[in-house]
Amino acid sequence: MTMQYNPDVKKLKPPATGENQGFWDGVKNGSLAFQRCKECSAWIHPPRPACPSCRSLEKEWVPSSGKGTIHSVVTYRESPDPAFKVPYSVVLVELEEGVKLISNMADMKPEDIQIGMSVEVVFEEVQEDITLPKFRKVG
Ligand SMILES: [Zn+2]
Repeated sequence: MTMQYNPDVKKLKPPATGENQGFWDGVKNGSLAFQRCKECSAWIHPPRPACPSCRSLEKEWVPSSGKGTIHSVVTYRESPDPAFKVPYSVVLVELEEGVKLISNMADMKPEDIQIGMSVEVVFEEVQEDITLPKFRKVG
């Protein structure tokens, strides 16, 4: 079962700001990219003006492998928003680069999601103007 959306409710578009525009541009083009500090090479997520390790303002957008493991999972059985049909799970994926991303599994029942499971990114167009990075099990 994939994440189910109520087709009668328009989904809210993730807000693209100047700071996270590179993330959403990548997703739109089928690439998961994160900020990386040009001074100390630290990966940075969520996007922010200054490197949390060395305070440098010099960053670049670098593609991720898109591979990682499930760090945490929570399953919603009551919907906080009429756009989402329940049950659905929200996962926290730790990517190989060390950053963690909140997302959903693309095609898995909540009871089958396991912490430590190997996953890879897929891109799902959930509405004409909204593409989201989601994950699927590998191995
Ligand atoms: Zn840095």
